[in-house]
Amino acid sequence: MSVKTRFINTLIDTDELYQTAPCGYFSLSPDGTLIKINQTLLAWLGYTEEEMIGEKFTMLLSRGGQVHFELFFWPLVNVTKTVKELSYEIVRKDGSSLPVLLNATAKMTPGNKIAVVNAAVTDITERKSYELELLKAKKIADSERKRLEFMADLTPEMIWTATASGSVNYVNARFCTYFHCERTDTRAAFILSKVHPGDVRELLGQWQHSLVTGNILQKDVRLMNRSGYYEWHAVKAALFVDEKGGGTNWFGSCSNIEEHMDQLRKKDEFISIASHELKTPVTSLKAILQVLDRIKDENASPALAGLITKANRSILKVHTLIDDLLNASQMKDGELEFNKTRINLSELIGDCVHHVRIDKRYEIVTSGDTSLTVLADEGRIEQVLTNLITNAIKYAPESLVIAVHFEQHSENVRVEVRDQGPGIPADRIPHLFERYYQVNTSGSTYSGLGLGLFICSEIIKRHGGRIGVESTEGTGSTFWFTLPV
Ligand code: ADP
Repeated sequence: MSVKTRFINTLIDTDELYQTAPCGYFSLSPDGTLIKINQTLLAWLGYTEEEMIGEKFTMLLSRGGQVHFELFFWPLVNVTKTVKELSYEIVRKDGSSLPVLLNATAKMTPGNKIAVVNAAVTDITERKSYELELLKAKKIADSERKRLEFMADLTPEMIWTATASGSVNYVNARFCTYFHCERTDTRAAFILSKVHPGDVRELLGQWQHSLVTGNILQKDVRLMNRSGYYEWHAVKAALFVDEKGGGTNWFGSCSNIEEHMDQLRKKDEFISIASHELKTPVTSLKAILQVLDRIKDENASPALAGLITKANRSILKVHTLIDDLLNASQMKDGELEFNKTRINLSELIGDCVHHVRIDKRYEIVTSGDTSLTVLADEGRIEQVLTNLITNAIKYAPESLVIAVHFEQHSENVRVEVRDQGPGIPADRIPHLFERYYQVNTSGSTYSGLGLGLFICSEIIKRHGGRIGVESTEGTGSTFWFTLPV
């Protein structure tokens, strides 16, 4: 040992360190008698050194603790010579108890017998109270979970939850009765086997998209009930975001909308029959009125001429409405046929604009590559364009300039109809292309059945294109569609 080390050693008072360490120390003879104990442990216990030395350590333990000490502590010391983190409750002089952890090592005689056992005692009061708090919090969480599950079981809808990555981890009672399954039947393969084959792909696609973006999932699908029949359900799921902003669980529901769909089917049937029946008489009425319109100036009084003009306008509206209804039901049933030819887009747009430009107040500005052509049904694409332009006039009447622009984007042609009208609220946009959807139905002065955009979207989809809208409230809307070149 160097002089320097020896000098440093003289400065370290190991006995003081032993006595005042933040943990308790004691030593036992092989029969369990206390032969040394530090001040820290004495202070914790409330005994003096004289009261402790010569006593058995087990006097500090409860009856149960004593049994444990004999059954575990000593056998461990004898076999492995060390004891790690055994938990005991030590009884203080005043009768209160102190939760501790014991670590001990045995020192052996040259004949390999235990000479002495040195032990360290750690106070785990704080740890115990944390554990207690945790236990309490777990109990509260458990009872909260049970409360929610009780509520979920009462609702007539199917309720489920899934992990952030999309594995279903809870289903309510209704789910089990509907699918005739156990609560544990949450495997993706089982659930997907209950979805109508015609809906699986789109449902999975949208679910994947929601998992990536965190957006709400909303989709109507057919699910097979316990009797093997499919019924329509509205599936909805939203990501629950915790206070820290991290997504934790998906909460989902499946509401049975079979009755609603059935009513819709009946309504469709009625509309289809009624519009078929109305079409013929209205067409002949329209023809008669057109003839009257042509000869009105020759024979009729000015009052009659005025009435004929009004009747013509009204019959045109009725005719358009019936056309919309017929188109919509044919679209839905996939009955509409397309007669595709190569058409020049600029010319087609020119024709449309010419037809719609009834009111001289509106200026329709067109721009784009005049050589662009597409393979499409001329009449149907004209119908789409006419609809978008008349909508701009109808729903954005203050916007006196309507811009129609077309250009090629790689394999597609994109056509835009832009107005500077009131725009459309963002929450309405996802529904715009649904059947019978109208943004503002209260006291509306506009004619229409909410079918125009539905028909447009079906026509475009059946051409292999896409349709959409970008709109900002107060700024205007840009309706667009694409067609493959
Ligand atoms: P309709 O056949 O009754 O006119 P559409 O399907 O064409 O219905 O349009 C659906 C809804 O979209 C309308 O109720 C209207 O509120 C809204 N809409 C369509 N075009 C525009 C536009 N250019 N600006 C504002 N709202 C529009």
